[in-house]
Amino acid sequence: MPSNQLPNLKITAIRIFKMDIPRKDVFTIATMALEKAENVLIGIETNEGITGWGEASPFHALVGETQRIDLAVAQDLRELLLGKNPLEIGDRIREMDAFLPHNPTIKSAFDMALYDIAAQAAGMPLYQFLGGTRRPLETDFTISIGKVEEAGEKAQQVVDRGFRMIKIKVGISDEEDFQRVQTIRQTVGDALRIRIDANQGWDRMQAVANLQRLAQFDIEFCEQPCRVSDRAGMKYVSDHSPIPIMADESVFSPTDALELVQNDVVPYFNIKLSKSGGIYRALQIAHIAEAGSRKCMVGCMSESRLGLTATAHLGAASSVFHFFDLDSFFEHAEDPIVGGVQVEDGHIILPEEPGLGARPDESYLKRWQEI
Ligand code: MG
Repeated sequence: MPSNQLPNLKITAIRIFKMDIPRKDVFTIATMALEKAENVLIGIETNEGITGWGEASPFHALVGETQRIDLAVAQDLRELLLGKNPLEIGDRIREMDAFLPHNPTIKSAFDMALYDIAAQAAGMPLYQFLGGTRRPLETDFTISIGKVEEAGEKAQQVVDRGFRMIKIKVGISDEEDFQRVQTIRQTVGDALRIRIDANQGWDRMQAVANLQRLAQFDIEFCEQPCRVSDRAGMKYVSDHSPIPIMADESVFSPTDALELVQNDVVPYFNIKLSKSGGIYRALQIAHIAEAGSRKCMVGCMSESRLGLTATAHLGAASSVFHFFDLDSFFEHAEDPIVGGVQVEDGHIILPEEPGLGARPDESYLKRWQEI
């Protein structure tokens, strides 16, 4: 039903689920190790029978949220939104931000569900609702920090699975990072484009030294070499590194993006719904990036294909999204989602149904604890 026929659309119920998804492997980065995805699923129901879905994937070391925090806060956000019009997305986002200035990850789940409802009401797939078009989105495959001896084999598996890009997590041991990247480049030759991510693991001088040494392996960019608190360090590294630098943990909000552009800190931004608080603010960051002639990546945490589908729709919304790191569910041992994105040889295939086009499997809704 077109949205102009839904003048009185109202939120009638909000369902909150403790969404645990087992992983095949522990995922290790410079600041944390993840044994399973402990996510939160939000379902927003309306008086017209349209239900929107959203997912939060809290990464405590990066964002400061946990599943327990998000489950608690979601109940307050539910009270805040009940009875209101889900199509007035900007107003709903501003109300959530005023009530809860931080916690972008749990807010992103509500934001996704609101956009799912709005795009369903408009009868369009979400990427089209956002003004985007079907265009090629090719993702990398991320490998976490592990043993040097296993790096070559892991990278070869990435090639064998059809990917053309790999993201290598670094930032714990300079020497082992060097050896891992060297081994991977020697193993795969030119078959993979290589990106690295230090997750704030280096100080500025260490970062410049590491990046100068790693540049021989033809690295496309390096994410977040320095701590978020060392703002000047990020600029110093970007100014002195032969490898382009991407801000990730340094860019959560549109305000962060403005500051990074005004101070000419880095050429690339990594936008994630879990950091921005959802699509509404992510688009604002993208607009600032475009105005400042920056390029963006869309990235993820450990979302299932539901949260990842929302992120992929965002990625298709604008050509300012140039890099894609949409691999969160590859190492999940279970897939609880019906519909949604598929990935073939690294290429993201978006659903064509109205809205997000992804929803949880009913059997999982019975299994997960509902709050
Ligand atoms: Mg990163």
